Amino acid sequence: MAAAEDHALAARIAADTGDLLVDLLENREAGDRALSGIEHLGDRTAHEFIVAELARHRPDDAVLSEEGYDDQDRLTASRVWIVDPLDGSSDYGWSATWSVHVALVEDGRATAGAVAVPGWETTWATEPSPIPVMSRVGNIPLILVSRSRRHLDGKLLHNAMEVEVAALGSAGVKAMAVVRGEADAYVHGGYLYEWDTCAPAAVAQSAGLAACRIDGTELEFNKAHPATSGLIICRPELRDAIVEAMAPVA
Ligand SMILES: [Mg+2]
Repeated sequence: MAAAEDHALAARIAADTGDLLVDLLENREAGDRALSGIEHLGDRTAHEFIVAELARHRPDDAVLSEEGYDDQDRLTASRVWIVDPLDGSSDYGWSATWSVHVALVEDGRATAGAVAVPGWETTWATEPSPIPVMSRVGNIPLILVSRSRRHLDGKLLHNAMEVEVAALGSAGVKAMAVVRGEADAYVHGGYLYEWDTCAPAAVAQSAGLAACRIDGTELEFNKAHPATSGLIICRPELRDAIVEAMAPVA
């Protein structure tokens, strides 16, 4: 199991990476504002920082990063850090909906993790875990979906449940919107990569929320092909109804 120091390290690296990315935006040349290249600079800078921090503090652990070479030696490692240095790259510099994901996986399960959302000036971690939100957002559940799948996932949810559906960028931001009680669920019917889902799911579960694949089965990480077949993060009482609603794409 992850040690207290692992939870703290995940939180510290996610928060520091978020600060670094904010500094990068604030210090860019005025002429860069029109360039889309800022997201690539952000991806690279954040990745290099996280990899260097993990190499310094956890030299024996494997790392899987969206921006790095996938060294398959991770498949036999007992501890693997799965990171998305910048989730929601296309929003970086243009909106608050981007995040940093840092998670530790042991034996296929996320045992520690953190999600930083600098636009909301907060980093959520698995320890201390977020305080569970007790009250629903409204009488009708609000479900967040991805912009790219708003019509498909939104239609399936509307067909089966009385819900409101809204689209938002970044998997981490949508998950943390549920953690902080601004929405009741985040649902994604298509494939996601493990760096999209790992840290957000770990944080959500530590806050007492349900997190599973689109068919309701348990999330598994550090697979040879590091993808997740859909994602549901929600208030526990909504889980079964969402799984049923999404069955056509499961
Ligand atoms: Mg990314």
